[in-house]
Amino acid sequence: MNESFDVIIVGGGPGGLCAGMYSARANLKTVLLEKLIPGGEIVNTAWVEDYPGFELIGGPELAKKMEDHARKFGLEIRTENVTEIYSDGNEKVVKTDENTYRAKAVILATGGSPNKLGIPGELEYAGKGVSYCALCDGAFFKGEVIAVIGGGDAAVEEGTFLTKFGSKIHLIHRRDSFRAQKIIQDRAFSNPKVEVIWNTLAQEIVGNSNKVSGVKLKNVQTGEMKTLPVGAVFIFIGFVPNSHIIRDKINKDKLGYIITNDRMETGVPGLYAIGDVRSQLCKQVTNAVGDATTAAVAAQKYIDALKIEPAPASSSKG
Ligand code: NAP
Repeated sequence: MNESFDVIIVGGGPGGLCAGMYSARANLKTVLLEKLIPGGEIVNTAWVEDYPGFELIGGPELAKKMEDHARKFGLEIRTENVTEIYSDGNEKVVKTDENTYRAKAVILATGGSPNKLGIPGELEYAGKGVSYCALCDGAFFKGEVIAVIGGGDAAVEEGTFLTKFGSKIHLIHRRDSFRAQKIIQDRAFSNPKVEVIWNTLAQEIVGNSNKVSGVKLKNVQTGEMKTLPVGAVFIFIGFVPNSHIIRDKINKDKLGYIITNDRMETGVPGLYAIGDVRSQLCKQVTNAVGDATTAAVAAQKYIDALKIEPAPASSSKG
């Protein structure tokens, strides 16, 4: 199939859904391609309390509202895994596992994937006590002692959420202070089930053949080693941007996040990047939807200008 669209949005998190809403509402022929269910990271987040207008809303519920809102304006959402995006003349080619599409503009909203610790036992016990999603897996560890690795918003917030299930949560951080927002830290510190282990690195995840039984730890100040008995290890140490599917030459920062200008333009005409895949200070839902609005409007203007003066044909694949 070689179907053509005005705008293709890749990624169905809040940014993608918002861009889709604006684009479909502007009567542009738009499709959003998402390999899993729409909603992105917030589908795995128990509660959202910092999205304006919603003092407290479940992540999956907010995601569903965004999806329904975008569909109401005619956004089509297809479940497909995008493998490659490149320019061909003044069109963009978007390849998925099943199809090849063409579009005048592409908005990349692919977010990121969780970082791995890269320690022995992590891969072996994935799904057997090692997890990267508290909302998905927390309930499997009711009454157990749980280790949470990391010191950012995700680790401290999700660690506190896991107190709903675990008998004790050990928050293990490599330094002596968290980088998480103060309000998130305060909530963790005031929860009697949370115990923080500072200046400590996880060295190995151990267990019997099919379940985690502990994590080997090293105190980076004293060098002391110990094995902490736990039934699960949740890892929240940031994520890597999913920017590798772009074949055109674009600017990325040293961590692989795409550098854009304030119109979300990547430097490749008609290609925009928004939300967590974009190099920026904050990675919040509010940032993603702001980026999305800008990119959708910029894409509309770009497509309008193409009708007057077609962009010069040149293939920049490779
Ligand atoms: P993050 O802010 O990048 O924090 C990653 C944490 O993992 C840091 O504390 C870091 O330690 C630690 N770390 C990194 N590599 C490590 C390693 N190899 N071994 C041990 N520890 C390691 O990532 P995040 O918490 O996933 O958050 C990502 C983005 O999403 C952030 O912008 C965050 O604000 C946003 N977010 C927001 C919310 C919210 O507002 N409610 C919730 C979740 C996420 P150091 O501190 O020593 O570098």
